[in-house]
Amino acid sequence: MANSIKPQPGILDIALYVGGASHLDGVRNVLKLSSNENPLGPSDAAKEAVVRATHDLHRYPSTDHAALRTAIGDVWGVDPARIVCGVGSGDVLKLLAEAYAGPGDEIVFTEHGFSMYPIYANSVGATPVVVAENERVVDVDAVLAACTTKTKLVFIANPANPTGTMIGTAEVARLAEGLPSQAMLVLDGAYAEFVDGFDAGKALVESRDNVFMSRTFSKIYGLGGMRIGWGYGPQAVIDVLNRIRGPFNLSAAALAAAEAAVRDTEHTEKCRTENARWRDWLANALAKLGVPSDTSTANFILARFTDEAEASACDEHLREAGIIVRKVAGYGLPNCLRITVGDESACRRVAHAIAQFKGAA
Ligand SMILES: *Cc1c(COP(=O)(O)O)cnc(C)c1O
Repeated sequence: MANSIKPQPGILDIALYVGGASHLDGVRNVLKLSSNENPLGPSDAAKEAVVRATHDLHRYPSTDHAALRTAIGDVWGVDPARIVCGVGSGDVLKLLAEAYAGPGDEIVFTEHGFSMYPIYANSVGATPVVVAENERVVDVDAVLAACTTKTKLVFIANPANPTGTMIGTAEVARLAEGLPSQAMLVLDGAYAEFVDGFDAGKALVESRDNVFMSRTFSKIYGLGGMRIGWGYGPQAVIDVLNRIRGPFNLSAAALAAAEAAVRDTEHTEKCRTENARWRDWLANALAKLGVPSDTSTANFILARFTDEAEASACDEHLREAGIIVRKVAGYGLPNCLRITVGDESACRRVAHAIAQFKGAA
């Protein structure tokens, strides 16, 4: 007898997220520059905290994440009561979708926006609405024009992935100000720490009631494998998300690692400085080879080739050289490759391989 068991609307529309590859058949010494991971890894203090946490693995972790929220508050000058912690910032974004959108509602994001945004929309049965960008930069007027009475959430990564571009504080404020009253602006700050002195939307969260900011430990903190993120928003929104998140969503080891990592501001500063230095070096080296990129504000560059064929041929050449970068045709950027900024030797190795590809080495 055939059953009539069916998933909720939208779920079968989801195309599975494809992560950055990490190995190449038959190649040793693979250089992975496909997932925007920190080449310096996490703070030593974070690693030591994980080792210490192993002594208490039989204990359930904290449900309120108070120690981590206090540490984040101390370091970033935010109110710990208005922080929610998730299993990566992706978890926080998904909680927002679950709590605020459903069938008949719209979730707005831009054409080269993070590929998880349509997945969050479809997973709750909401309609994803894709807005054109202006030369790989978020177009605030176009986003505002796309909003309707059904718009519940607007997801904007600033800096954006995979373009690496940003919009300024005044533009973000104009976006928040212009949204319909039932819509919330979600500023995805996964790369915010790479921008020196950037508040990632903190002031806007504090001065308005329709802005939410998400942050992650996966990028500058080098803890992608531990799955920790956080959000900062209006108290009413935090209270809603806390009702639906798992009470033990973060493991004790993850909480300990994140707390130690955020407090090690010296390591964070070093990662920011090194990234900026080698990002600029890499962008210049590629530009000289005839491979331009927009000025990146994150820990990757979006290298632009003449067309899709050249981008694919370069990707193939890099693979033969044992280097994995990210093809971004799925982000509407078929002529581009996204290259994570590695350490000095990684940047030199990928620049050399691209020079070979261009016949310049
Ligand atoms: C990497 C990334 C995230 C972070 O995801 P986690 O779940 O925190 O690992 C979020 N948004 C964007 C745009 C990213 O590139």
